[in-house]
Amino acid sequence: MKRILVTGASRGIGKAIAQRLKDEGYEVVTHSFKSEGTDLKFDIANREECRRVIDADIAANGPYYGVVLNAGIASDNPFPALEDEQWDNVLRTDLDGFYNVLKPIIMPMISSRIKGRIIALSSISGVVGNRGQVNYSAAKAGVIGAVKALAVELAKRGITVNAVAPGVIETDMIKDMPVEEVKKAIPMRRFGKSEEVAALVSYLVSEEAGYLTRQVISINGGMF
Ligand code: NAP
Repeated sequence: MKRILVTGASRGIGKAIAQRLKDEGYEVVTHSFKSEGTDLKFDIANREECRRVIDADIAANGPYYGVVLNAGIASDNPFPALEDEQWDNVLRTDLDGFYNVLKPIIMPMISSRIKGRIIALSSISGVVGNRGQVNYSAAKAGVIGAVKALAVELAKRGITVNAVAPGVIETDMIKDMPVEEVKKAIPMRRFGKSEEVAALVSYLVSEEAGYLTRQVISINGGMF
């Protein structure tokens, strides 16, 4: 059975992705940071911890077919008020997390000749930028650069690497947003559902999607 790691699978978009992929018959390995009930637990900002836990998992259960790099945080403030800690936390989690989680996974995938699937959650903020999110936009734009470069490196091995860039999706992450005001900026006048993002990810991990790589797929109700 194809093993897929979904990071940040305790809630929100990651939980919906994990459920969808389980329903489709993949062997899903769920991950979170502090929440109970997932298979693996580590801080994606902690390189040593990522390496130790992922190395042990691969040694015990074999290499991954896919990885969905979904775990992430936002910590918003207008730039003049942004604290050093907010910049550092978001960059270390959302951008360094890409490297920390993927690094121990890639060599076992390559040496097992798996035509694997790597999907990273970016954001509309990483594509067009967003007020109050200079740190988050920088990290999510960084993820897009990393995805595009890695896609080129891995293409000849049949491993695809893509980014998904959601607009506003109904999860804990947006609980402090001014709901009605934000909806006015969305042509569909509603927030997206985690299940709608999961449906897109499910296509990207499938074997059928083998010729789709180096892309950023937006899912945002028509925001741009
Ligand atoms: P969420 O509901 O806030 O859930 C975040 C998940 O990430 C949780 O499982 C959390 O684990 C995990 N996580 C956070 N920090 C972590 C760390 N340092 N180490 C390991 N795991 C960590 O988030 P979401 O709204 O579903 O967002 C999922 C992804 O989509 C994120 O990358 C986000 O940036 C992106 N995105 C979201 C939206 C949106 O509107 N919601 C829009 C664009 C992009 P615990 O439960 O253990 O804390």
